[in-house]
Amino acid sequence: MSELDLLMIPGPIELEPAVSRALSQKTISHLDPAFIETFGAVLAQLRQIFGAPLGVPFVAAGGGTLAMEVACANVAQPGDSVLVINTGYFCDRIAKVLERLGVSVEHLRAAVGEAPEPAQLRQALESGAYKAVTITHVDTSTGVRAPVREYAAIAHEAGALVIVDGVCSVGGEEFHQASWGVDVAFTASQKALGAPPGLAVACFGPKAIAARRALKRAPASLYLDLEEWLPIFEAYEARKSSYFATPAVNLITALAASTALLLLEGMSARAARHRWIAHAFRAGWQALGLHTLPIEPTHMAHTLSAIYYPKGIDASLVAAVREEGVVVAAGLHPDLKATYFRVGHMGRIRPSDVLATLGAIERAMVRLGASVELGAATSSAQRVLAGRMPHAD
Ligand SMILES: *Cc1c(COP(=O)(O)O)cnc(C)c1O
Repeated sequence: MSELDLLMIPGPIELEPAVSRALSQKTISHLDPAFIETFGAVLAQLRQIFGAPLGVPFVAAGGGTLAMEVACANVAQPGDSVLVINTGYFCDRIAKVLERLGVSVEHLRAAVGEAPEPAQLRQALESGAYKAVTITHVDTSTGVRAPVREYAAIAHEAGALVIVDGVCSVGGEEFHQASWGVDVAFTASQKALGAPPGLAVACFGPKAIAARRALKRAPASLYLDLEEWLPIFEAYEARKSSYFATPAVNLITALAASTALLLLEGMSARAARHRWIAHAFRAGWQALGLHTLPIEPTHMAHTLSAIYYPKGIDASLVAAVREEGVVVAAGLHPDLKATYFRVGHMGRIRPSDVLATLGAIERAMVRLGASVELGAATSSAQRVLAGRMPHAD
């Protein structure tokens, strides 16, 4: 990969220069007053980013999968039942995590590219006693965006806790943990939070913390136990030093540079920018005659696109686009990964990145023998990009 290639996968993503600079700073002690200030500030900023004024943010070395484990291990224990709203690959993963914890899992599945109707969730909850419901806000394998707010309201009516995988959404999609009634949400540093890979990030609301305290036995994994971490996060927020497990100093410093930029932009402005960029991409796919996995516009993610390959073209498109200087991702969903590709569009993405990506895809398609009118996708995207940011969907 050339340093000038554009990274357009659903994480890791292109970093803001200020984030790269922060990453390259000297490694200092995790107890250095400068780091205590940085980490304390990040925790407070994450509360705003998640939209959880009473939440307890969690940050530890790891990734989205560790964050998934930490969320599950602190609210569910052997003998509990959890309902997984399944919109793709990462829903299967959270089910696996829960099963490893000895939790019994039921799935509420939708066809690929769809999300279950709220009425189906209501019905599923009537027929079983679930401790919690999991929702994958944006499933990165299908590009499906789930209606978290509707699902969460229904889950609460049924007395279930709500766990949200926000790995491909928090920091890119509209997300309001507290007002949507999400008890625990999690993400990872390398997605819409705009930092390098390496950090598991979560936010526990009051009911999730109470659920941890009500567990009959502490989680089997010490590193996953929220009770071990809580005094540490409290200390850093109070600008005091404390130790449980060494925080990833450089990564947290980079995350701090990014969270500051997120809040400077403003969370709703940021979500609006992601919608606008996503609409420009959609215009591009349409102009190329390409179809996305999500069928309903209301279920289409704003942080990535999952697009079927055009007729006669296969996974060689990903390599051909790369030859044109843009890195996109292959399919991930086990049932149909050879039939589609994915383009991440989150973080510091700008209109020029949309054009660079669509232009590279057009050229790659031509080189692979597709009948494409060069400029069709870029000019359709331009019409969206030259306009005002859309507010719907
Ligand atoms: C990327 C991703 C994960 C997994 O994160 P890792 O950092 O790769 O462990 C989980 N859920 C979703 C929705 C993701 O996009």
